[in-house]
Amino acid sequence: MQTFTNCLVPEGGYPTQDGYLRVLDKPRKVGGRLTMLHRLEWEKIKGQIPPGFEVDHLCKNRACQNINHLQLLKSSTHKSKDNSERYLVRNIEILSWVKLNPGHKPKDVAKTLGVTRSKVEKLSRDYPHIRQHLKMKPLKSS
Ligand SMILES: [Zn+2]
Repeated sequence: MQTFTNCLVPEGGYPTQDGYLRVLDKPRKVGGRLTMLHRLEWEKIKGQIPPGFEVDHLCKNRACQNINHLQLLKSSTHKSKDNSERYLVRNIEILSWVKLNPGHKPKDVAKTLGVTRSKVEKLSRDYPHIRQHLKMKPLKSS
């Protein structure tokens, strides 16, 4: 996998909860609106973003404005890429919580973290090392 260095993260702007940077596209008093900075950067350098496309961060650093780290993706492709990344991040959150709070049943982990019990049980199958931190029967060794 290609790695990206030299991310360009400007000072200021208005970060979103997801970590994107927004700026005013023009002064507020002339009707300026908060706009995703990486979209503005793309359009400034590469031209208008065609309908149905979004600007994706190859470097996964959503505040980054390095034009070489950006690519156009179809919105649908972008969303499924984003979702699988989000899914992975959530899994890591659950796994780390279990490690830090050992001795709970999957049911209780699920309740505390607001996920389903089957989600926790699936994680314990996908990541067997986590089972030692959970209050559950060990996997039968085959
Ligand atoms: Zn970058």
